[in-house]
Amino acid sequence: MELLEKLEILGTAAKFDVCAASSSNKRFQGASFGAVSPSGVCHSFTPDGRCISLFKVLMTNECEQDCGYCQNNCYRDIPRARFTPDELVQLFVQFYTRNYVEGLFLSSGIRASSNRTMEDMLQVVERLRIKHRFGGYIHLKILPGCEESMIEKAVALCNRVSVNIEVPSDRHMEKLSRKKDFQRDILGTIGKISKQLKHDRQVTQTTQYVVGAAGETDREIFDSVSQLYHTYNLKRAYYSAYQPIAHHSAVKRDNLLVRENRLYQMDFLMRQYQFRSDEFIFEKDGNLNYKVDPKMAYAVNNMHLFPIDLQRATEAQLLRTPGIGPASCRRILQIRKSVKLTDLKQLKHMGVVVKRAAPFILLNGKSFGRLEDLTKGERPLYEQLTIEQFMKETIHYDSIP
Ligand code: SF4
Repeated sequence: MELLEKLEILGTAAKFDVCAASSSNKRFQGASFGAVSPSGVCHSFTPDGRCISLFKVLMTNECEQDCGYCQNNCYRDIPRARFTPDELVQLFVQFYTRNYVEGLFLSSGIRASSNRTMEDMLQVVERLRIKHRFGGYIHLKILPGCEESMIEKAVALCNRVSVNIEVPSDRHMEKLSRKKDFQRDILGTIGKISKQLKHDRQVTQTTQYVVGAAGETDREIFDSVSQLYHTYNLKRAYYSAYQPIAHHSAVKRDNLLVRENRLYQMDFLMRQYQFRSDEFIFEKDGNLNYKVDPKMAYAVNNMHLFPIDLQRATEAQLLRTPGIGPASCRRILQIRKSVKLTDLKQLKHMGVVVKRAAPFILLNGKSFGRLEDLTKGERPLYEQLTIEQFMKETIHYDSIP
């Protein structure tokens, strides 16, 4: 098989691994410009905030596993291909020297065994680092159940390593695979990586959930990811809405993209807003509210804590107020030391989304809106803003204002 043909197959097959929030844009399937899904190149962010292009590819899409949510599982009748380590190194070096890419994101199906395939993947990384002296970004997927010595080597050579957890528990994994052992293959591998990372704090570990493939609730994902952050010191988790494939009927396909978005918002609140686990509001069915974002749901359910006086509110109170994100919170804390906050224009200049914040704040003892006001008018103001509305109503960008 020609190298380009392999690239077509293995670049396309790699698109289901998410390594940056931008990769989760699945709305505009036919797009020819700016689309991240077709194949080959995706983007990620370095610790210093730079956006870099990654060559995103599989070593092979041959796989002995039967994961029901995966395009590459052993039951699927699809074209299969495999790179040799030499081929992949040669391709990457060519792409890099032509400035097409700045880093590598290498994943793989499991051919023969996790150890056998990891050997090939590590050869690629080792040759890039040692023979070609490549010093750029490498994200390597660790194959479930591989030997600890391989994880040790991966940690020594890469910037980021990850194993996809996919589902919150054994019970959910059993619905999707008869071969994968959740405790041993997934949690065991995450644990081994975490152990290695204690010796090397510059390398980070991430994971990914596939959302909606196993009938799991948002609450179950929340409990699982909280434990990962707490126990294994993960850098972050990604959420990817399940995309139905032949041979596997989705349990429930409604709201999958909204769910994905809500889970990212929940995750931001955990990592960047210091929300405690008891502050998330789940519906009776165990899912987040899909009409309002988790921060608005928190505020509306805790109206006894609002309105807050912006001149005196603590950082924690500001971060729990709709319309105020970490950046605008920092600006309020800084500016109010020297300036009295008296009107909404000041807040707007600080990046606060004032329409969302109004019912929850006091300025100079004055209130600017009631919660009921949010539901007046043609559209409820507390619904999720579109990007256009969001850009119009804010000057600065915060993850969840
Ligand atoms: S092990 Fe990975 S590549 Fe293989 S079927 Fe499962 S998810 Fe797909």
